[in-house]
Amino acid sequence: MVTWQSEADVVVVGAGATGVPAAIAAREAGLSVILVEAQPHMGGHAITSGGNVPLGGGTSAQKKYGIEDSPDLVFQDLTDWSVVQPNGFPDYRYNDREIVRAFADNNVATYDWLLAHGVTFADKAPDERGGISVGNSVPREMHAVPLDWPLAHTGAPVDPAQRATYSIGAGLMHPLNEAARRAGVNILLEHKMTALHRETPTSGRVTGIEVDHHGTRLSIGARKAVILGTGGSAGNVNFRRMFDPRLTEEYCGLAGMPWSDQDASGEIAAMAIGAALWGLYNQTGEFGYVLTKAGRIGCRYGYQHLDWRPGSKVFDKAVASGLPISDWQNAIMVNMLGQRFYDETGRAFTSNNYNSIKPYLPGSYLNAKNITYNPNNFLNAALAGIGDGHNGGGPIWAIFDAEAVARQKWVAEPPFVDIDNGFFFSADTLAALADKIRMQYQRVPMPPANLEATVARYNSFVDLGDDQDFGKPAPLHKIAKPPFYAAWATPVLHDTRAGLRINAKCEVIDMSGAVIPGLYCGGETAGGFSQHGLARCVCQGLIAARNAAAATG
Ligand SMILES: Cc1cc2nc3c(=O)[nH]c(=O)nc-3n(C[C@H](O)[C@H](O)[C@H](O)COP(=O)(O)OP(=O)(O)OC[C@H]3O[C@@H](n4cnc5c(N)ncnc54)[C@H](O)[C@@H]3O)c2cc1C
Repeated sequence: MVTWQSEADVVVVGAGATGVPAAIAAREAGLSVILVEAQPHMGGHAITSGGNVPLGGGTSAQKKYGIEDSPDLVFQDLTDWSVVQPNGFPDYRYNDREIVRAFADNNVATYDWLLAHGVTFADKAPDERGGISVGNSVPREMHAVPLDWPLAHTGAPVDPAQRATYSIGAGLMHPLNEAARRAGVNILLEHKMTALHRETPTSGRVTGIEVDHHGTRLSIGARKAVILGTGGSAGNVNFRRMFDPRLTEEYCGLAGMPWSDQDASGEIAAMAIGAALWGLYNQTGEFGYVLTKAGRIGCRYGYQHLDWRPGSKVFDKAVASGLPISDWQNAIMVNMLGQRFYDETGRAFTSNNYNSIKPYLPGSYLNAKNITYNPNNFLNAALAGIGDGHNGGGPIWAIFDAEAVARQKWVAEPPFVDIDNGFFFSADTLAALADKIRMQYQRVPMPPANLEATVARYNSFVDLGDDQDFGKPAPLHKIAKPPFYAAWATPVLHDTRAGLRINAKCEVIDMSGAVIPGLYCGGETAGGFSQHGLARCVCQGLIAARNAAAATG
């Protein structure tokens, strides 16, 4: 018998895009709600996000701008087997029809709910900006705007001229966090769920959770339900390697960190009481932002669209903003051994969006047939490793010189680069630079002669106007003027697209296909639905809460 230190009808785990809406909706259904959050702040990855919210199905915004959409069209789009990326990978083929149907049927209600709970969207026609696996037929992206709320990555509001136009997750989550407080949700920050309680270890109803609060263990009872919105698993090395053994420790700069982690704690706790995983292909499919090319170099957190700045409340953990690289003609990339491995201008994976396929014929073999195969992405080469029997590609370093710094108008010093933790090095010669590259993930020294030979060969390709090794289009700039630099440019993990098995009600399902009574899940911790981001999270949070409220017993 567990002694509960506190109890509520519903316990929600994780104050992000899934958990906060779930907590509000459960509270508004008349239930008492405890919301536990591991971090000292709310918002999860959602508050760090770009605020692009793909909700369609016939929203008032779509109607206002004459865009015809319907739940059936959303469903059809997001289950279309024939949509493939230029590398042949399908965005939607392995989606669970039941889960996508529930999402499609709830798009309009979710959009209306967000408006009713204080979220302001840019007053413009829905478009495709930020859309990643959101359906081909019509534009659905709405953009949450921050008004006067502070942004997570700067700690300050945007310029007043942009307050109603700048798309950002702060515009989604600050109003929702406020709505949760107003609704009377009992919010417990720095309370990390470590386990779930069930009547017996693998049978019966889920009765509550175990949390860690500054080293103290507490048991929190849930009279009706526990809703998991813990945000996925990409930050847990052992968990993510079940999907892809290459994703070893060096992929340490998850997008959205250090605001919050995705450490698989929801998945692991649920699996310990019998839950199944679902839709696992969606995590390894080579599309979207599960894995991305670094867009900011010389820092640990190199996700292209998130530059941590000194005003942010987590800047002490982020340490540096990174150097935004707009043109890979300004650097080469080398592996741990100082060797190039791909055309640096190569792309990351792509994903489906409005008008990606033209002409588009739903469910037609012609869609797959008309896509021109294009393998051009550098990610697999970056993850290939150095041939020494280890998994993972190891650190990838961008190598450049003083003239590249001038061309890019970079300031190659803190707080833009992280020297103290070994994500940025400089030296007056290439040999000295290679010799300096020592940090926790560089498990073999870089031979100075290798880096010298690599740069000399690359410089000869600039003379020739032809990259004879990797086909970089007309290499433009020699790397010749000291000082020389090595900046961390290792691929960045982003979202999770596979997780716990749920049904249309967001109930968690066990390994025998039966519902685990009293346990719900949504967002990146849930599986079965290959779509990047916020819309499925908010929508599933609401679905989970409503079904938890309606459940008897
Ligand atoms: C930089 C960035 C930009 C993005 N831009 C967009 C965009 O423009 N459009 C879009 O649609 N999507 C975007 N996304 C993706 C989107 O933000 C996520 O898909 C979404 O926030 C996931 O919601 P979630 O509820 O699953 O997790 P989160 O929003 O991450 O919330 C999970 C919360 O659970 C907490 N937690 C985790 N484990 C525990 C535990 N054991 N106990 C207690 N609390 C726990 C975490 O600290 C976190 O606060 C972006 C993501 C990032 C990182």
